[in-house]
Amino acid sequence: MAPKQRDIGWEHDISIGGSRKLVKCNYCGKQVRGGITRLKQHIAHLSNQVEGCLRVPKEVSQILRQHFSEDSKKRAAIKFKKERLMKSLSEEDFYDVVDKNSEDDIEEWWFRKS
Ligand SMILES: [Zn+2]
Repeated sequence: MAPKQRDIGWEHDISIGGSRKLVKCNYCGKQVRGGITRLKQHIAHLSNQVEGCLRVPKEVSQILRQHFSEDSKKRAAIKFKKERLMKSLSEEDFYDVVDKNSEDDIEEWWFRKS
């Protein structure tokens, strides 16, 4: 005759609304469907799919937004660096081998590079 406490707990913590991916915002108590990523978007006010949190402190929202944008910036920066490295290597070869006397062009190239 013991109550099924584990089942009740499971239902309240994980299975609210019939979805295991429903998570609850600690700031406003809103239940966000779609898991932790969607919850972060809710707190950072980043998605059109989810309503932004009205109770989260501005700092927290900003930090999270920065975290998101830094991630994509980092990825873009790495990609850019790689491409630039490949390009500069081939351009350096080009100047060394073919256009050795064109000092002005080389200077201009360095200027544009930085
Ligand atoms: Zn919230």
